[in-house]
Order: sequence, then structure tokens, then C-alpha cells
Amino acid sequence: MKGDYNKAGFETRAIHAGQPADPQTGAVSVPIYQTSTYAQEEVGKHKGYEYSRTHNPTRTALELCVASLEGGENAHALAFASGLGAETTLLLSLRSGDHVLLSDDVYGGTYRLFAKVLSQYGIQFDLADLTDLERAAGKMRTTTKLVWLETPTNPWLKVIDIASVAEMAHNAGSLLVVDNTFASPYLQRPLEFGADVVLHSSTKYLGGHSDAVGGLLVMRDKELRDRIAFFQNAAGAVPGPFDSWLIMRGIKTLPIRMRAHQENALAIGHFLEQHPKVEQVMYPGLPSHPQHELAKKQMNGFGGMLSFITKGGEAEARAIVARTKIFTLAESLGGVESLIEYPGAMTHASLAGSPIEMNPALVRLSVGIESTEDLLHDLEQALG
Ligand SMILES: *Cc1c(COP(=O)(O)O)cnc(C)c1O
Repeated sequence: MKGDYNKAGFETRAIHAGQPADPQTGAVSVPIYQTSTYAQEEVGKHKGYEYSRTHNPTRTALELCVASLEGGENAHALAFASGLGAETTLLLSLRSGDHVLLSDDVYGGTYRLFAKVLSQYGIQFDLADLTDLERAAGKMRTTTKLVWLETPTNPWLKVIDIASVAEMAHNAGSLLVVDNTFASPYLQRPLEFGADVVLHSSTKYLGGHSDAVGGLLVMRDKELRDRIAFFQNAAGAVPGPFDSWLIMRGIKTLPIRMRAHQENALAIGHFLEQHPKVEQVMYPGLPSHPQHELAKKQMNGFGGMLSFITKGGEAEARAIVARTKIFTLAESLGGVESLIEYPGAMTHASLAGSPIEMNPALVRLSVGIESTEDLLHDLEQALG
């Protein structure tokens, strides 16, 4: 694409943003610049690239694309080796004594990073239910530097009002970080609701094919971007060019994949909701969901993640995840293939013994884009 891609629609930017045809060869697909270093004509005279920990042209293309999708022309993105690499790098901007208010339903690895790693460096945190802002506000401290949330949450699929939390954070002089992994920028753009930093595990929907691990941070503030870029280079959690390329290739089909994911997830939600062995279904697209109206306002769809609680408790939950044939029993999410998992002993095992320990009857689905009929039959036989 020639010209200013930022004026184009989302689907067009997903394919073209940051990815002009290669000026040297005309290659339509961004080359995988598999190089660690770059020739300099004289000391300090180069084409903008010196060393691939600092920058790499394939990574730059990915960063420009995601910046455009999350925030248009005023956003900046930085790519990392994993979602947790992005989180760690962002958190290097904190100092000993600083405090973070963390949503009480975060990815297990995020909780572990705060509880088991950052606590060693004097970084403090509290958990709060951010659907109850009055109570959450009471947990803000003068030292609170970040409020950190996921929405929809993992695995309870709670929807949190980003604009209200942004206001609470900003009134207290704190920044708001939103982990947008579950929704993807196609369904939700937190910067538009006042978030300061958007985080992604691009391993999930952005990549979309379960073949690469990656992370991203997106922000509007150029000074903040430069500060985080300094930590990115200084600490080194960068993605290689091939992984950057795989994520970028995945993003080209993000809109059509998300539409297919949510069509299947909604059908499964309706099916499970009337199943006699199911106690409760958590999916923001169902009218029974407590924040269904908020989800309609804040999101352009409801995504492909769905959790449910079995009436038969832990034994039944474990039996169901072992019996599915198309839904693969595996951690992770967001790929074209359907996955089923048991958070209590898999993705959220690190919460065991913590105040936010998992409900043992909960099963989580990452609904893929296979035939709806096949997925429904698979769940029907697994529920027995
Ligand atoms: C997977 C995940 C992460 C961590 O990302 P990795 O790429 O696995 O390091 C963070 N947040 C959410 C919501 C996730 O699902």
C-alpha cells in the first residue's frame, strides 16, 4: 500500500500498516531480516539500524502495524520475546517501594511475576475487584504508580469499565495498564478509553496460529515509549525476526478470525447454558452475563474465550477436559484450533494457596474457528 495507511479501515491496516512493498526488490511480504548487525559507512553513519537487540526492520514493521491497530497514527508499539517479557520490561520502570493495584482476576503468570519475583525487589501490590470501583479506590496508595487490569478477565470473563478505572488511576497520579490479549485490538482499543499502556501476549489472538510466542506494549506518550524502549534495549527481552514475521502474518487475518471465533463461542455459550450438567456459563456475549451491556459499549464483539462451571465439581471438570476430541487439552489460547483446559491445575496452578485460588469446577475454552456443528457435537459427547 502506498500513502497514509492510518486513514484506512481496520482490516486494511491489519494487512498493510508498516508494511510497504520492499523498496529494493518489490517483495510484497516484509522480508525476514535475519541479521544481528548492520554495516556502517563510517562510525555512526548507518541506515537507522545498528544491532538487532536495539532494532530490526522486521520487528519495526510489526511494531508499526500494531501501533496503528491499537491507536492510529499517535501510538507507539514495542515488541517483545513474550507477553511476560513485555510485562517485565514495563515493570523495570518501577522502583523499590512503588505499589501496583492489580485486578484480582489476572493471568496466573502475571500474578506470579508480582508475587514471587517483583516482591523480591520491594515492589508492592494489592489485588482488587475492579468491577467494584468504590472498594478498589480504597486500595490506592500515595505510592501507587500503576493500576493493572485485564478485560475480559482470565478465566472469569468479567468485563471491567476501562474509562472509569482510567479516571480513578489518573486522579491518583497513576497510569493504567490494560492487558488486551483476550479481546485483541479488533474488538477493543483501550487507549480510546483512557488507558496509558496496552499489553499483549501476541502468542494468542494476534499471532493466532499457536506457532510463536511474543508480546507487545502500545502507548501514546512518546516520552514513556522512549523510556520503555531504553529498558527494552537494556534488558533485552526482544523477539527474533522470524517470530516478528509470524505474528505480523497472523495479524493480517485477525478481523476475519475474530469474527469466526465469536460466532462459534456464542453458539457454544447458548448450548452450554441450557445443558443440565452446567451450573454457570461465563461469556460476555450472553445476555445473562452481568456486564453484557458494558461489553456491548466497550467492545466491538465478545471474543472467543468462554468458561463454565460444572455441577459435578472437580471430578466432572477433569473428566470433560479429558474426553473432548476436537478441543485439544492444552494451555494457551487464541489460535485457530479449539483448546480446552482446566485452569485449577494448568494455566492458573500458580494461584494455588493464594487469595485468588481457582474454582475447581471451572473449565475454560478457547473456541477456535472449526465448524460450529463439530465443536457442538464434541462438547455434547464430552459432557455425556
Ligand atoms: C498468555 C498471557 C500472558 C503472558 O504471555 P506469554 O506470551 O505467555 O508470556 C499475559 N496475559 C494474558 C492475558 C495471557 O493470556
